[in-house]
Amino acid sequence: MHVIEHIYINGRFVTPAGNEWLDIIKPADGSVIGRARLADARDAERAIAAAHAAFPAFAQTSVAQRLALLEQMYEAVTRCQDELHAAVLEEYGAPASRSAWMSTYPASVIRSVIDELRVYPFEQQAGRARVRMVPLGVAGLITPWNSNAGFICHKLATAIAAGCTTVIKPSEFSLLQTRVIAEALHRAGLPAGVFNIVTGRGDTTGSAISTHPQVAKISFTGSTATGKAILRSAADTFKRVTLELGGKSPTLILPDADAAQAAELAVQAGFINSGQACIAGTRILVPVQRKAEFERALAAAVEAQISGDPAEAATTIGPMVNEKQWQRVQHYIALGEQQGARLLAGGPGRPAGLRQGWYIRPTLFTDVTNDMTIAREEIFGPVLSIISYRDEADAIALANDTDYGLSALVIGKDEQRAREVGEQILAGRVMINTLAHEPRAPFGGFRHSGIGREMGQWGISAFLEPRALTLA
Ligand code: NAD
Repeated sequence: MHVIEHIYINGRFVTPAGNEWLDIIKPADGSVIGRARLADARDAERAIAAAHAAFPAFAQTSVAQRLALLEQMYEAVTRCQDELHAAVLEEYGAPASRSAWMSTYPASVIRSVIDELRVYPFEQQAGRARVRMVPLGVAGLITPWNSNAGFICHKLATAIAAGCTTVIKPSEFSLLQTRVIAEALHRAGLPAGVFNIVTGRGDTTGSAISTHPQVAKISFTGSTATGKAILRSAADTFKRVTLELGGKSPTLILPDADAAQAAELAVQAGFINSGQACIAGTRILVPVQRKAEFERALAAAVEAQISGDPAEAATTIGPMVNEKQWQRVQHYIALGEQQGARLLAGGPGRPAGLRQGWYIRPTLFTDVTNDMTIAREEIFGPVLSIISYRDEADAIALANDTDYGLSALVIGKDEQRAREVGEQILAGRVMINTLAHEPRAPFGGFRHSGIGREMGQWGISAFLEPRALTLA
């Protein structure tokens, strides 16, 4: 039984003022595996005060000093990979291949921030002015549950690169991972106050951070609905905000694509992290002339998925993170059927033989039209929709007919053609025949998928403000 009693403020693990206890539930079987005492708004206040006090000195540190701190952070996070792997499997249920990635990604993302910081142009000449990028101040870093440790490390490393101090509010569904990372960061020996971690609920701890006048910046990853609330609450104090929100990403299969290969990649894109990924390609656009062939190939690729115990090496789809998420996905599957979509694989209920745990049958609908709810709203589970298109113009129009714009995948044999199509899609990240993650490129969304960019040089700039010194 895990018992988490502490939060992290000003260089020390401390008991929160908040005294609500939350059960930690293992999604693979629904059992209670621990409990955690949550922070509340009073703890957020203390953490913000510590970050505020640490900021003036930290803002004066040199790039070389901050690079050294990031190297310490990298070493410490690298050393906790096994513990992190165990935590991700246990509290989150990501299948083995994904949980392995989730435990190595936090260190690798710190490495990519180090690489960016080495070449970041903090100063440049603009006519008669000398322009210097200066850190914004205290940054509130608010993360979701679907890759919590990765987001904490990425946001924190970027804030440190810029010279900001931070208050981190992790998801209340990722408390084991948060503890592993907090202990690693403590061992890294960062100056007191530079990072503080307060757990707790979004409407208490989270909103205390997003409304506080001493917080200059919010870097948020989570749902579009919460992103809107944060944007509103940041307005009164003109906080800078970076919002990484939801998606309903298209996978556009061009008419020259090989059916089996395209289906394999499209299903992989749709089922990233058991479908619990902001970038999941959930709308699969296929040419109407080859619809039946793509339906067969996609159904075969979906049926080849193995749902079950995330610790088993063969498992490709793990459980949903919690019961609420399971109910939500079931609701969308029912809605798909009600609105006239046709099931090709999966459907309501649980996969055969899995009576416990929050498992969903990997599901594929066809005859979906782009106005159906399952094509418009983010489901956040292993549920894919096939939508057919007449010609390239129709395909591009369908890809762009969404409120979102986070990512897209284009699959086709003629790479030049696929690239030309990709350049017409309104999304922050468009992948051509690959799912490779490029950490040096900006990441973020058009339209309701967010505001601003993380990663690469763009990510560091988002924690800085330019000051132009104009000389006589
Ligand atoms: P969520 O919006 O429910 O919660 C995210 C975080 O915000 C949590 O820490 C929560 O406690 C906090 N929060 C909630 N209400 C708040 C408030 N009023 N003020 C401040 N903080 C508040 O999201 P989730 O369910 O944890 O995560 C899944 C969502 O995240 C999906 O929509 C997914 O697409 C999105 N996501 C986006 C990206 C991206 O990079 N664009 C990446 C991963 C996940």
